[in-house]
Amino acid sequence: TWWFRLSALGFILLAIYSLYRYRVYTMQAQQKKLQKQVREQTAEVVKQAEELQSQSEELQALNEELQAQSEELQSQSDYLQELNNELSDQKEQELQARKEAEKANRAKSVFLATMSHEIRTPMNGVLGMTSLLCETPLNAEQREYADIIRVSGENLLNVINDILDFSKIESGQMELEYKPFDLRHCIEDVLDLFSEASAKKQLNLLYRIAPAVPEKLVGDQLRIRQILLNLVNNAIKFTSKGEILVEVNRLGDVNGKLNLGFKIQDTGIGIPQEKLKRLFKAFSQVDASTTREYGGTGLGLAICERLVELMDGDISIESEHGRGTSVIFNIQSIADEAAPQAKSTCNINKAAGKRVLLVEENTKALQILEEQLIQWNLIPVSATTAQEALKHLADGEKFGMAITGTNIPGADTLEFSKSIRNIDKKLPVILMCSVLEKNKITDTDAKILLKPIKEHQLCTIIKTELLQNEPEAAEKVSVSLLSEEFAKKFPMSILIAEDNLINQKLITKVVNKLGYTPLVVNNGNQVIDTLNRENFDIILMDVQMPELDGLETTRAIRKSNVKQPYIIAMTASAMAEDKAAAIEAGMNHFISKPISIQELVQVLERSYIEKEVGYTAG
Ligand code: ADP
Repeated sequence: TWWFRLSALGFILLAIYSLYRYRVYTMQAQQKKLQKQVREQTAEVVKQAEELQSQSEELQALNEELQAQSEELQSQSDYLQELNNELSDQKEQELQARKEAEKANRAKSVFLATMSHEIRTPMNGVLGMTSLLCETPLNAEQREYADIIRVSGENLLNVINDILDFSKIESGQMELEYKPFDLRHCIEDVLDLFSEASAKKQLNLLYRIAPAVPEKLVGDQLRIRQILLNLVNNAIKFTSKGEILVEVNRLGDVNGKLNLGFKIQDTGIGIPQEKLKRLFKAFSQVDASTTREYGGTGLGLAICERLVELMDGDISIESEHGRGTSVIFNIQSIADEAAPQAKSTCNINKAAGKRVLLVEENTKALQILEEQLIQWNLIPVSATTAQEALKHLADGEKFGMAITGTNIPGADTLEFSKSIRNIDKKLPVILMCSVLEKNKITDTDAKILLKPIKEHQLCTIIKTELLQNEPEAAEKVSVSLLSEEFAKKFPMSILIAEDNLINQKLITKVVNKLGYTPLVVNNGNQVIDTLNRENFDIILMDVQMPELDGLETTRAIRKSNVKQPYIIAMTASAMAEDKAAAIEAGMNHFISKPISIQELVQVLERSYIEKEVGYTAG
């Protein structure tokens, strides 16, 4: 039993041991499993850590990039800020500059007005004395010199007026007039002023008004004339050979208004392309040396542009350097409904169908003449050379008359008309020549038509020659403006108040010649003293006088109880304000210096009549 007991014990021990081993074994296995798990998890964590590390590095890089970009943006923003500051500085400067320019412009206007006034005063002496001189008996040479003085003086006045005009337009004070006028007369008058200048340079001065253009218009004739004067003057200045053509066309109406297109075309030196634009700026010229040669202020085109704009038009220049220039502008105008718009005023129906031989070298001039004759139902036959013309005659063709220019190729300039008459004795020959050529003409049988050709003169001469009528009654000899009869007709006592000695003399002489014996005093105080002793009907009063000026004197007279005279202001200021000031001070009329005799005569006449009927102005 003890063996049994022993073996049982052994068995139990074995069992316990086995159990223990099993327990150890399972624990080890568990431990291994745990270790494996731990290892795996560690690896995972390491991997994730690495991943995080790399992500963090990436982020770091991105961050740096962003940092760099932000710096860049900052610097750009700084730059923009700088630019912005600069711009606002510039704006400030521009504003300042504009203010200064406006100030300067005002100062300029005042300066120009003052200067123009200062120049007008001595010009009064020059022009006034010249017109007096022209009223005296002069020989031809003396008359020519006197005329030149007069013309030069008037030119100088034009320059001054230009300057005044420009400053007036600049300051927006220019207003247009609307009055009926005749476009053809307006153009002919302008061309007439240049007849001598163009003759000296042997230029053909031509114009053409398209048949569709109504010639009786309502508008500001003076301003249109001013534009044309400027442009034709330029064209002649800058052309040494060929022709100047003024053309007017109807461009199609706008809002019931006529749109008239003007073109002033020359064959002169032209203007380089790059200089075309800036010529409309004031005081701008292509080349300063031309000023020395031709004169001019560089204001003409600037004034033209402003005036054209006032008439709702545009102006531009086209030019080919060396070939010529065309200035083109348009204006809006109105046809004068009240006036008959008869196209052709030449009544030569009886001569209709007659053939007229036209001989002229310049083809444009020829074309214009042809067109004119056709409008009058005549048949023009044109020739540009002497041979051509003579051939027509030699072939036995019949003509009612011949109209020929001078400088015809192939013939001695002024003998050509004689050669024509050698073939056909009875053919009337009309010679178109300039004022300068007129005196040299040796053929006493030729009838003369002065250039630039005016429509009504052409008409008259054709009528006379073709219809063999008596020539029109000789032109009335111009009647002298100054006559002692005037004072008899308009008896008045006149007091002259003027401080400038020359002007004193001038005005006294004019008034003397009208038959008055005026009293002359030097200033306002003397006027008042005189009026206290003596009555006067009229005072011709200078506005600018020392001690007591014209306006103050007038006010004093109007307040006093002396017999009230008619007071006529004489002043070198041309501005409308000055006129208003004179009238406000109690003056009755206003004449500007240089005094035009005609204006003075009119004002005296008016004053007399107004006094007679007891009318008081102002
Ligand atoms: P001005 O004639 O007083 O100088 P404008 O304003 O009329 O002033 O003209 C400005 C300039 O334009 C002239 O000085 C000249 O250089 C140029 N010009 C004007 N018209 C012509 C023309 N028909 N041909 C050539 N140049 C011209």
